[in-house]
Amino acid sequence: MNLDGKTALVTGASRGIGRAVALVLAQAGANVVVNYVHNVQAGQAVADEVGRAGVRALLFKADVSRPDEAAGLVEAAVAEFGRLDILVNNAGITRDNLVLRMADTDWDAVLSVNLKGAFNTTRAALRHMLKARYGRIINISSIIGLRGNAGQANYAAAKAGLIGLTKSVAREVGSRNITVNAVAPGFILTEMTDKLPQDVRNRMIAEIPLGRFGTPEDVAALVAFLAGDSAAYITGQVIAVDGGMAI
Ligand code: NAP
Repeated sequence: MNLDGKTALVTGASRGIGRAVALVLAQAGANVVVNYVHNVQAGQAVADEVGRAGVRALLFKADVSRPDEAAGLVEAAVAEFGRLDILVNNAGITRDNLVLRMADTDWDAVLSVNLKGAFNTTRAALRHMLKARYGRIINISSIIGLRGNAGQANYAAAKAGLIGLTKSVAREVGSRNITVNAVAPGFILTEMTDKLPQDVRNRMIAEIPLGRFGTPEDVAALVAFLAGDSAAYITGQVIAVDGGMAI
């Protein structure tokens, strides 16, 4: 994997899967824009780790659900590094509840960050990628977007929507040498899944043929592959990293 001289922007890179993606892309030689929204200390720690890989980091606060901030994030990347080759739409939140009890604000927040956020950054990034006739866009969806999940109608709808966005944009920009793919993680050990009760975790692990939860690095390895030259002829795909959970 050689991403020397490339620029990657990873949304929600201050922890979890986004952090692992930022680090693996840095180790492959890309300069990395580390986006966060709340947690500046964690974001700075990731930016420092990126720097220790021998490439440059730009730490940038932006709420991707806001079109102006998402556009500002992309413009900051291009201003700093002169180009944007790889966009990883990873920022995501959960606001779980059964549909009957789900507040409008919980529906809107999850759709705004997890789906509209990816649209906002993609639209801004494509302006540069189309001119350069090169781009790799990788959207972090979820197997919940394929299978649904009781208590996560908002999250499942957003992650399924992200797959529709992935396939549509892949069709729109394929002729310009820009690939767009989705990664669908299963149960990955991060702060997002830390809060799940033990009985739910036990039920989930019983459903995983490989018999363990995934790590952020398991997901990051696929993202790095999709970002590299070896994946040049792969577009519009949804690839699960789930230990076989969705078989
Ligand atoms: P996490 O540990 O909760 O981290 C979420 C990241 O998103 C943080 O960096 C957070 O920044 C950032 N973020 C949240 N809202 C944002 C916003 N409006 N604008 C910009 N950044 C924002 O989550 P994770 O488990 O690593 O998940 C990462 C992605 O993978 C998500 O899209 C998630 O849906 C997906 N996924 C996760 C799993 C899993 O099992 N963990 C499974 C399938 C899919 P701050 O630190 O500044 O708050």
